[in-house]
Amino acid sequence: MLLGAIADDFTGATDLCSMLVRGGMRTVQLIGVPDADAAAPEADAVVVALKSRTAPVRQAVEQSLAALAWLRRHGARQIFFKYCSTFDSTDQGNIGPVADALANALGSGFALACPAFPANNRSVYQGHLFVGSVLLNESGMEHHPLTPMTDANLVRVLSRQTDGTVGLVPFAVVEQGAQAIRRAMTALKEQGRRYAIVDAVSDAHLVAIGEAAEGHALITGGSGIAMGLPANFRRAGLLEEHDSTTLPDVAGHAAVLAGSCSRATLAQLGYARDHVPVLTLDPLATPDAAILTEQARTWMNGKLGRTPVVIAASAPPDAVAALQAKLGREEAGALVEETLARVAESLVRDGVRRLVVAGGETAGAVVSRLGVHSLRIGGEIDPGVPWTYAEGSGQPLLLALKSGNFGAREFFLKAFAALEQ
Ligand code: ADP
Repeated sequence: MLLGAIADDFTGATDLCSMLVRGGMRTVQLIGVPDADAAAPEADAVVVALKSRTAPVRQAVEQSLAALAWLRRHGARQIFFKYCSTFDSTDQGNIGPVADALANALGSGFALACPAFPANNRSVYQGHLFVGSVLLNESGMEHHPLTPMTDANLVRVLSRQTDGTVGLVPFAVVEQGAQAIRRAMTALKEQGRRYAIVDAVSDAHLVAIGEAAEGHALITGGSGIAMGLPANFRRAGLLEEHDSTTLPDVAGHAAVLAGSCSRATLAQLGYARDHVPVLTLDPLATPDAAILTEQARTWMNGKLGRTPVVIAASAPPDAVAALQAKLGREEAGALVEETLARVAESLVRDGVRRLVVAGGETAGAVVSRLGVHSLRIGGEIDPGVPWTYAEGSGQPLLLALKSGNFGAREFFLKAFAALEQ
């Protein structure tokens, strides 16, 4: 194992895997911290997917440290802490506290932090995170149900989450390439900074930052920054050439489950409504997971087949706010996640073998309920969202776990069309 990664949610983990596969690394995603005696999979990179983004801080830190211990025991030469390209977190964490704990355990006094992913419209300029042409806090992320992002200045955001200090490697330095970035990071480390937010607005920047981070014990960021990492291992003669993964064909019914309330997912649902059957659950009217699941079961009866059915709880900000006002933020999220996990179980029982799940937390809940323990990564549908072959659920299953904001408008249809090619 060359690279060991710890991802704070499941769709983010898949996104990272996809990036590494594209870079020529054989990659396996493990769901949760593996048992101490579990053998390491045959892979160049292993990504341990946690559901720690919005977990209580202590739990997120403990799980991340357990994942770190397992990865190090299996020989990982470099550790990557993967979080969302929209830096999803609150002032309590969990990005800062988890990064602090990992840096401490690794004895590395410094780590770069770069969530940029230009291919998915996330760029960092002068430490400010942009989604397309707007600042993070005007991108819709300020309404996120669990991690509302109301400040786009990542130096400030990360500073509030760590007892260390945070510096910046600005655009003008990043433009000069890997050597300059490396020098700037060394200077910040010598000044006693624990983190450097690193600007990046293009893939070339990400590649240069990856090169500059060669030999760093810990790297933190979105999946974009992983673009430059395989080349380091290749240059060192550690990475052999392999074919990229082709997944086994799995026949069965098709379905989409959506629990993301992000703008991209809402637009994808709008598009899907014009083409396939879509059920929108109303947790405000019926705040009961068992009853909502039963409604979904009744609705899907007779509709399952090769054409996907779509079952969504996704709602615009005012409806999310109404449910949260009624139940509290965590309880509202937990109700919807529990509902969609139950519906997933039901779908698989009824013969669904090709399943798209939209939403990071949602995917975490679904995958855990299905008992999936590892995902082999296949071809990409849209940047950052591959089909995967899931193992552990008792039957062969193709899963595509889509981070809420990822994918083109027609994603839900495109995903299944890609399987027919
Ligand atoms: P994303 O990838 O877009 O961040 P997530 O699944 O991670 O999506 O987060 C969305 C959260 O919103 C989940 O906890 C989900 O249960 C919750 N949610 C979904 N629909 C609703 C709704 N109608 N009201 C309140 N919360 C909801």
